[in-house]
Amino acid sequence: MAKAKAPKRTLDSYTIRGTNKVVKVGDCVLMRPVETSKPSYIAKIERIEADARGHVKVQVRWYYRPEESLGGRRPFHGVKEVFLSDHFDLQSADTIEGKCTVHTFKSYTKLDDVGNEDFFCRFEYNSSTGAFNPDRVAVYCKCEMPYNPDDLMVQCEGCDDWFHPPCIEMTIEDAKKLEHFYCQQCAADDKIKSRNHASRNSDTKVDNKRRRR
Ligand SMILES: [Zn+2]
Ligand SMILES: [Zn+2]
Repeated sequence: MAKAKAPKRTLDSYTIRGTNKVVKVGDCVLMRPVETSKPSYIAKIERIEADARGHVKVQVRWYYRPEESLGGRRPFHGVKEVFLSDHFDLQSADTIEGKCTVHTFKSYTKLDDVGNEDFFCRFEYNSSTGAFNPDRVAVYCKCEMPYNPDDLMVQCEGCDDWFHPPCIEMTIEDAKKLEHFYCQQCAADDKIKSRNHASRNSDTKVDNKRRRR
């Protein structure tokens, strides 16, 4: 007759060792890597359980950093970008270092200040095939790159496209000082219809993106 396995209890929460921070299912956490030289792992807590001896384990779903993906880091990947993977693990709760927040892309771009514990995710990642979902994203600028929120871009008031200053032979300093911006194409179009002097009420949006290195 098979012996019954030690009963596991599902817990609602776990207090991170040495802190008063409480982690619940659905929260994102930083976990200590095996190699201490590496950055912390980022995971979403799916389940918290304790065994008969009171050892707490967490079922996690890993976020991958661009460096950990099969395709590696690409120029449009943000410094704080992570991918929600299909890779699950059961880990000792002892490896949890702290809580973090994985924002949506949109809410990340609206943060006034990006803290150490702020990340963003816009792709799901298949860890065996290296495929991303969605597999396409909107591209901007003459260079036709997806948006990297760490790079400053200026928006054209004519076509609403966004441009990297270096791609339109403009310095970052000049871009920050801009009050109105029309891309080359729109400036050319505008000359043609310059007679109608419609007032434009929106200021050029210069997105002063954070730079983190
Ligand atoms: Zn560009
Ligand atoms: Zn334009």
